[in-house]
Amino acid sequence: MRICPRCGQPGKLINERKGKRTYIYIYHYDKSTKKTIKCYIGPLLKYKYVEQFHNLNLDNIRDTNYLTIAWKSLLKYVKQNSSKDDKREIVRELMEFRRKIDKLIDDVWKG
Ligand SMILES: [Zn+2]
Repeated sequence: MRICPRCGQPGKLINERKGKRTYIYIYHYDKSTKKTIKCYIGPLLKYKYVEQFHNLNLDNIRDTNYLTIAWKSLLKYVKQNSSKDDKREIVRELMEFRRKIDKLIDDVWKG
């Protein structure tokens, strides 16, 4: 079961092939009406790309604030790459990242 990014309800992730393309839906079964409701999520290729690129779960696809997505990705990366033995490498990477962010802020500010 997945949480549907469209309606927020749990459902089953289904790939539907139409012609050459495959599309992703989440199927919700309504017990009271005994009907299945489909929520369209998106084309499979795009979905896979987005999920891999952001290294996030589909549950977060509703989150279209890319700064929030980037921040979550950064936290996940730091968590995965912080060993207790040697923090120098991740600290070096974070300092480089901070330098780039500072430059970006300057560039945006100055227009
Ligand atoms: Zn839904």
